[in-house]
Amino acid sequence: MSREREIANNIDEVQEQIALACARAGRSVDDVKLVAVSKTKPIEDILAATKVGIRDFGENRIEEASEKIPAVNDMLDQTVVWHMIGHIQSRKARDVVPLFASVHSVDSLKIARKLSSLASEEGKTLNVFAEVNVSGEPQKYGFEASNWQIDAQQFDMLQQTISQIAQLPGLKLVGLMTMAPFVSDAERTRPVFASMAALRSELASKLAISLPHLSMGMTNDYTVAIEEGATMVRVGTAIFGARNT
Ligand SMILES: *Cc1c(COP(=O)(O)O)cnc(C)c1O
Repeated sequence: MSREREIANNIDEVQEQIALACARAGRSVDDVKLVAVSKTKPIEDILAATKVGIRDFGENRIEEASEKIPAVNDMLDQTVVWHMIGHIQSRKARDVVPLFASVHSVDSLKIARKLSSLASEEGKTLNVFAEVNVSGEPQKYGFEASNWQIDAQQFDMLQQTISQIAQLPGLKLVGLMTMAPFVSDAERTRPVFASMAALRSELASKLAISLPHLSMGMTNDYTVAIEEGATMVRVGTAIFGARNT
């Protein structure tokens, strides 16, 4: 099978699984966007995915993105939406703004402020997600939120931070992003996604802002994430195969 065919088949399969998960949850497929995570994969793979209608791609490293994104954009007539999904170091923030439409990985107020001033300078509006760590794994980036339901102080901190991000010029806070722990039984991620959905509702209501998006779910767990309310799933391996790096 050609590589192009293989990618097309994989995308078909993922879309089928998304449709089934939506049906189980009584949701419309139009409410779930598939972001194809193309990190470490070549430009040809990205082009193959665009041929079967994929328009949203996720990258996690600035160096790699700076090479691939302009090249892909040059080769295509249609517009592609690029999503930054990896941790951003302060000194690399400047390169994010011209490359990406969305940043899912806003994990500190410092980086939010930096992106805000850079986007404002460029006269651009970046869609951003606040990355939250609802699972409490110490190695994960994101605002601490593992005990938000029982720890009033943690929730207050989170509420203040989200409120400040929401007010920054040049940024449009569109929702929350999280990564569930990697487990062999995806069912075990359900409480993390459910907590995330509840947190989104609580923050939106307390701050009287709309947080339309929940970016959650990867190859291992995207169907569970959709059942719990994900509006964007970030899928790499199931589309492009395993990564070497
Ligand atoms: C790599 C990555 C993904 C995709 O992971 P897969 O398991 O390959 O689907 C999703 N989100 C983030 C933040 C990532 O870094």
